[in-house]
Amino acid sequence: MPSWLPNTIDYNKYKNIQEFIDEIYNIFITDFHIKKIKFNDKYIGLAQKLLSCTPNENCYSAEYNCSNCPFQGKLDIFNHVITGKINTYRTPGKFNLKRAVRIHWIKYIIDNYKNGVCYFNEQTRKGLNHYFWLVNEKFIVIFIETKTHKYFLKTAFYIDKPTYEHKFQKKYETYLLKKSTIKIAD
Ligand SMILES: [Zn+2]
Repeated sequence: MPSWLPNTIDYNKYKNIQEFIDEIYNIFITDFHIKKIKFNDKYIGLAQKLLSCTPNENCYSAEYNCSNCPFQGKLDIFNHVITGKINTYRTPGKFNLKRAVRIHWIKYIIDNYKNGVCYFNEQTRKGLNHYFWLVNEKFIVIFIETKTHKYFLKTAFYIDKPTYEHKFQKKYETYLLKKSTIKIAD
């Protein structure tokens, strides 16, 4: 574990799931909106869409009940970051504690990306994806640079499937290859 990386958040410190989710939401919003996260001298923003729970699209969890939803009124991207996919829709998602207890890592990883974080980018139809992969800790932060050069958090997650690791390894190799080709062309 790099010296600049803090421990994961202790979930057991909290009275209940609502208190835990409120606390990590506070950390998330503080990091992005108050402390701010910068890359190449530009701030990384959060999409402002709010999550809305409906009876047939409950946030799936054994830990809480969406008749009293802990995500109600919070940003959709927050739910995205601390949950995984269920069926076809992405949010509300299935609560994932491994993602949730690492939410404060996002800022540390971008702030320290030159210090042992595997960085690469990839052009997509929607814009340029920037990846920050902390390989040994199995955690990745991804944000998108729009065509108008604005940065938005896309996702961040704990990589619990080797298939994802292979996918990111491939992208990293492609990025390195492209970079070396550009250098030769210079
Ligand atoms: Zn819900």
